[in-house]
Amino acid sequence: MRKKILSILLIISITIIVAIVVINLNNAKKNNGDEGENRVNIVASFYPTYILTLNIADGIPGINISNLTDYSSGCLHDYQITTDDMKTLSKADILVINGGGMENFIEDAINSYPDLIIVDASHGIEFIKDENHSHNHGHSHNEDAEEDHEAHSGENQEKHSDENHKHNEANQEDYIYKNSHIWLNPLLYIRQIENVRDSLIEFIEKMGIYNDDELNYIIATMKNNASTYIDKVIRLDEELTSLMESNIDKLYGEEKEEVVIFHDAFLYLAERMGLEVAYTVEMDTDTYLSAGEIAEIIDIIDEHDIKYLFTELQYSDSIAKRIEEETGARVYIIDSAVTGDGTKDSYLTSMYHNIDVLKDALQ
Ligand SMILES: [Zn+2]
Repeated sequence: MRKKILSILLIISITIIVAIVVINLNNAKKNNGDEGENRVNIVASFYPTYILTLNIADGIPGINISNLTDYSSGCLHDYQITTDDMKTLSKADILVINGGGMENFIEDAINSYPDLIIVDASHGIEFIKDENHSHNHGHSHNEDAEEDHEAHSGENQEKHSDENHKHNEANQEDYIYKNSHIWLNPLLYIRQIENVRDSLIEFIEKMGIYNDDELNYIIATMKNNASTYIDKVIRLDEELTSLMESNIDKLYGEEKEEVVIFHDAFLYLAERMGLEVAYTVEMDTDTYLSAGEIAEIIDIIDEHDIKYLFTELQYSDSIAKRIEEETGARVYIIDSAVTGDGTKDSYLTSMYHNIDVLKDALQ
């Protein structure tokens, strides 16, 4: 009897020991796997660059993609870097930025990481410069120096250097406002995809951590992913073209329609559509418009017989609603694709929604 009990105890003990060993082995494997697997750490600055990078590099073994800012952060004009962001940057090999001053908040921070590779998605793209940028309501909305962009374009191919941050000391007066919301024009967005694809391939090659077979696989996959994504954006752009074609009179006729926009992100979509923007109200989360300013906007709307006010999903539309009440214009809400559910088709979903809004407005 005692023998029986002993042997049962022995079996139980052996089972427990085996189980512990197996669990430990599995955990060890998992940990090693994770560390070994993430050989390239790509961080995107905000939602649009994150979605773009996902479409190029997601699902490639060993490449980890994360978003520096939260999905709901929106545009980064007033963004303040956090200690968590600094932690994320310290682990990053590559940082994908939109450029054009969108990531001004990060300039000082990246000086602390001299090995961090910067991929500028706006390389070679010309920004809309706003001559009427007098309605800057006290916030530092996307101010950027001319020489800053030149510096960034050049550094697209190399690691950044301290040289590029000299403008921080430059006279604020020299800053020319640059509209950095280029992704809202699908044709410019395609160039951003190409930029990121080419730079990622170049830098991953330079890192020298992959053998030829691995590298060939990564390059082929990225090229293939980018071309699949570009095809989708081309189809989206064709929708815009057909919308324009069925509204030639309203867009290009003698009595062509003008619009008022809130937050200048829409300017790129308007430009692609051929929509004339009569006035841009600089909106931000902290924007306060005085009664005088609202009266001025109402005057412009009456004077130009404006029927459309385009505001954005990410911003409060209460001022637009007030103006709507006092004029004959109607408010339409555009999605500037700076927030979303984090899925790869997020940009396309936002843009198709915008096409529906535009269809509704123009009909
Ligand atoms: Zn913005």
